[in-house]
Amino acid sequence: MNRSEGDCTVSQECGVLYVVATPIGNLEDMGARALRILQQVDIIAAEDTRHSRRLLQHYGVDTPMLSLHEHNEQQVSARITALLQEGKQVALVSDAGTPLISDPGFPLVRECRKQGIRVSPVPGPSALIAALSVSGLPTDRFRFEGFLPRTQEARRKTLEKLKEETATLVYYESSHRILHTLEDLSAIVGDRRQICVARELTKQYEEVLQGSASDLAGAFSREARHQKGEFVLVIGGKSEAESDRVSSAAVQQLLVALLDELPVSRAAALAARITGLKKNQLYQEALRLKE
Ligand code: SAM
Repeated sequence: MNRSEGDCTVSQECGVLYVVATPIGNLEDMGARALRILQQVDIIAAEDTRHSRRLLQHYGVDTPMLSLHEHNEQQVSARITALLQEGKQVALVSDAGTPLISDPGFPLVRECRKQGIRVSPVPGPSALIAALSVSGLPTDRFRFEGFLPRTQEARRKTLEKLKEETATLVYYESSHRILHTLEDLSAIVGDRRQICVARELTKQYEEVLQGSASDLAGAFSREARHQKGEFVLVIGGKSEAESDRVSSAAVQQLLVALLDELPVSRAAALAARITGLKKNQLYQEALRLKE
């Protein structure tokens, strides 16, 4: 372990950086400990001070704030670590939910840990965990991927890379893109996966919809109200049993033999009749073998 001058594990005089979660919509989700910490610290580093001021005013907290957002993170992090080195107590909050989860704060936390400054979590809401907990999809293994790319081409490429993932996938999505993303999901991942769209969690128009990608895309395009607000997209992983069977030696041998005689789609159709596996999956595998 490297220790240097100004290392708080040596000097013991530094303050603590508290990483404080705040509500994702419903103000009643503000934790009692989070409030006490926000009241007691010397300074609150907030993603958007105007946004956080509304929350703090609601609870009568008047701690001074400074702004730390993605465009000034590097400089402001240096300022905050200097304050912590002087013994000041600092809380980090984002606009909603848990800081650093698709929100600013990573350079600051990394730097504090490097300098031996204590970083302490004050856990609470996060849209990711809230959505996963009500999705009805497996939670034993999940993979959080933040936001999908904005352009269709990049989004499709990303989905293509992740379509073999067997763990549940979780994405944040915006109201502008949710419909397009569902359409892309239907085209790339297919309609056999269960998908859950969690909208406006903990807010007045909270809605948790479940179905195939094309069912949901249909529902979203029929009723524009579904497209408003904030979204978390939870996608069931590829069934391990299915992917194992399709890639088993016996199925591969069968496909290779059929591909010698037939075009890809006929080979996949016949293999589906013989094995009872899904034609679409066999088709993808046959294409891969053909290449
Ligand atoms: N750090 C936050 C957290 O822990 O939840 C997430 C910040 S990220 C910039 C904001 C995204 O989270 C939104 O675009 C949306 O995808 C998701 N989100 C935040 N609040 C939500 C809510 N109440 N319901 C559904 N999704 C929400």
